Amino acid sequence: MNAGPWLPVPPDGYGGIENIVATLVPPLRELGVEVVLASVGSSTLDVDELVSVFPSPQFPQLQRPYNQVNGVVPAHQHAVVRAVRERGDIDLVHDHVEAAGLSTLAALGRDDPPVLHTLHWDLHKHPELYGTFEGGGRVWVNGVSANQLSRAPEALRAHAVGHVHLATPLADGADRRRPPDKGDHVVILGRITPGKGQDLGARLAHEHGFDLILAGPVGPYHSPSDLAAVSTSDNPDVAYFREKVEPYVDGRRVRWLGTVRPPARDDLVAGARAVLAPLRWAEPGGTFVVEALALGTPVVGLSMGCLPELVDHGRTGFLTAHEDELPDLVEAAAKLDPAEAMREAARRFTPAVMAARYVELYRAVLASV
Ligand code: UDP
Repeated sequence: MNAGPWLPVPPDGYGGIENIVATLVPPLRELGVEVVLASVGSSTLDVDELVSVFPSPQFPQLQRPYNQVNGVVPAHQHAVVRAVRERGDIDLVHDHVEAAGLSTLAALGRDDPPVLHTLHWDLHKHPELYGTFEGGGRVWVNGVSANQLSRAPEALRAHAVGHVHLATPLADGADRRRPPDKGDHVVILGRITPGKGQDLGARLAHEHGFDLILAGPVGPYHSPSDLAAVSTSDNPDVAYFREKVEPYVDGRRVRWLGTVRPPARDDLVAGARAVLAPLRWAEPGGTFVVEALALGTPVVGLSMGCLPELVDHGRTGFLTAHEDELPDLVEAAAKLDPAEAMREAARRFTPAVMAARYVELYRAVLASV
């Protein structure tokens, strides 16, 4: 299980892929799969062996110039390949390292194990790699939604064995928990970035009179005071926040809390009337969606990316193609039964469901070599 050199597993704050790896590994091991984790030395997840070349997270290195950091991923990938060869008993490599994982593992030999590489991101990235990819019959990919894969370049799609929706530990036993008491606020949960549409949500909140709370970092800044201390930045998400979102943040109708971590995050989401997704991009996997449902909060959004696969319109949320319909749907969300969303999450988005689906894909990959 290759989680890469950037953050520990589980991460101590923001870390989408590392969180999914931490969610997947325990139920895989319960199913009897032995897991060797490739990560950084400070990872604390229970595994059969930890392989690492870096003792600590390399994410902070990403701020440095390319010619000073371009050895990080090769060093990590080299350690993965060495461990695979030295152990000699690895049946399959499940890789999560963007671009570099796919390309280096495609260079493994015929005697090495096959690879399943999970595509966690927007597949319009890396057109030179994805548009020409050749896995030699030993490297396969999976998406995190059907929509994400359907938009992939043909060469990459030819290597796809299917998709696996994301999961959350919050879905475990969600159908047995008491539905939460609801407040009146609406939440947008995620990085503040144009694709997530916080500016649209904030404008609608003012125009239509609903209270909106934004939770999530702006680039590397996790709190309003961290961001306020920065005068100039070439981070595009900082520019987006300052120009398009901040003018609406008045501390009353629209508030920005910075990154909110569990358990405060879960209380914030559970108490919300709805989680809003005014998306401007095809959201590939949408962890925030499955988390909201598990916490009994309907998701109201634009029907982009994975949302139609995760949200049952009229039952666990509302989706529309028209942004001017969002305020009425936010209003209507108060009438949906939170227990429906929680039952759906317990049925579809638990770690055990995700692990069982990955085992199916592992079997498909193993059968193909
Ligand atoms: N998140 C969080 N606190 C915040 C904002 C986001 O813990 O203030 C978490 C969120 O709950 C989710 C993850 O960060 O688990 C974001 O993953 P998602 O797939 O929703 O979006 P991505 O950032 O990967 O596009």
